[in-house]
Order: sequence, then C-alpha cells, then structure tokens
Amino acid sequence: MPLYDFHTHSFFSDGALLPMELIRRAHVNGYSAMAITDHASASNIEELVEKVMRDCALAWEQWGFRVLPGVELTHCPPRSIATLAARAKAAGARVVVIHGETLVEPVPPGTNRASVECPDVDVLGHPGLLTEEEAALAAQNNVFLEITSRRGHCLGNGNTVVLGRAAGAKFLVNSDTHSPGDLHTEAFARTVALGAGLTAAETDTALYENPKMLLARAGAGTTIA
Ligand SMILES: [Zn+2]
Ligand SMILES: [Zn+2]
Repeated sequence: MPLYDFHTHSFFSDGALLPMELIRRAHVNGYSAMAITDHASASNIEELVEKVMRDCALAWEQWGFRVLPGVELTHCPPRSIATLAARAKAAGARVVVIHGETLVEPVPPGTNRASVECPDVDVLGHPGLLTEEEAALAAQNNVFLEITSRRGHCLGNGNTVVLGRAAGAKFLVNSDTHSPGDLHTEAFARTVALGAGLTAAETDTALYENPKMLLARAGAGTTIA
C-alpha cells in the first residue's frame, strides 16, 4: 500500500538528518512520496526552500521519488502567516504546513484561525484544541488537518478528529519526523489514525485519498531549472 508523509524535519532546522539521508531512509521505509518541512519564519524561508529543493530534485531525477520542498511556519505572529505562506510558495515551496496550537507549546493564539483562512496553507499541523469554526473554515478552504504521531502534539488528535469530522474537513496522517526512528511504516500510520478515532474507512481516505489531492495540488516532481 502507498505511504505518504507531508511533515518532516532535516538538520536545516532541528531534525537529525541531512535532507538527502532523510529522503533515502524514507524511501527505504516504503514511502511513496513525502515533504520536507523545516521550521521557518520571516528569517529563513527562502534559504530553507532553496537548499532543500536541490535534494528534492535529485531524488526525483535519480530515483523517481517525489519529495516536496516545504516549510513549517512555526511560532510566527498570526497576522504574518498569510504573508509568510505566500513568500514560501513564491520561493518554490510545494507544501506549507503551519505549526498549529499544540497543547504542549505556547504557540500564539490565533495561529489556527489564521491558518485555516489562508489559501497558501496546505496543512494545519497538530491543531491542539481546534474550534468548530476553525474546523469549518478548514473544510471550506481545503486546509488539511493533521493527525500526528509526534509525542506531545498527539494529545490533540482526538479533538481534531471529532471536530474535523463534524465539519467535513480532510485529514492527513504525518510523522513530524525529527529522527530516523520517527519515520512511519504503512502499518504504523494506520495504527495512529485508528488510535486517534478515525474509522477504518476514514483511515483509508486519510492515508490514500487525501495525499493524492495534496500531491495533485502541489504539481509534478521537483526539478531545478
Ligand atoms: Zn510543528
Ligand atoms: Zn514539525
């Protein structure tokens, strides 16, 4: 079965691995496609995207493995999110993840709301205590809600499922990998989804159908002109 993961970190932020090693290990784990989404703010968006894109292009050209260059906008003031997300897309990011209002960090209140209103945001990561209104906006604006296996951040998964389901929002299951041992297998991703409260049918949609929608939106494999 295919395996997708649109939230991972390299040592360009706080991950352990070089992007190329992260890509190689994910490929060996059976990944079908992935994104590298290092922590970003106004300080480093273009630099991150430009650097990681070179390894994404190599993986595509040499192995036919699709790796989307992305960012995770992290702890940015909510009013800056739309501008920074647009900057990331202009720099070549194919996926913009937002570091949502996880229960275990002082992420600025209003981050979830600004994210689900923004057309350049693809994934609201670990939303924590999402509201009904935010879930409805996520559904309306096609922002995927993340179910995460990351320790701490995963405390909000149940709430994300309950409110996201009621609003008709779409889910993705991501690893938020920082170390090689965090990478998913297909069986583990399924366990995470079911453990968060998704039904078997909803799990299939989150694991297989929603990733295809995100990939279609992101366009073809990365190449460097
Ligand atoms: Zn995060
Ligand atoms: Zn992350």
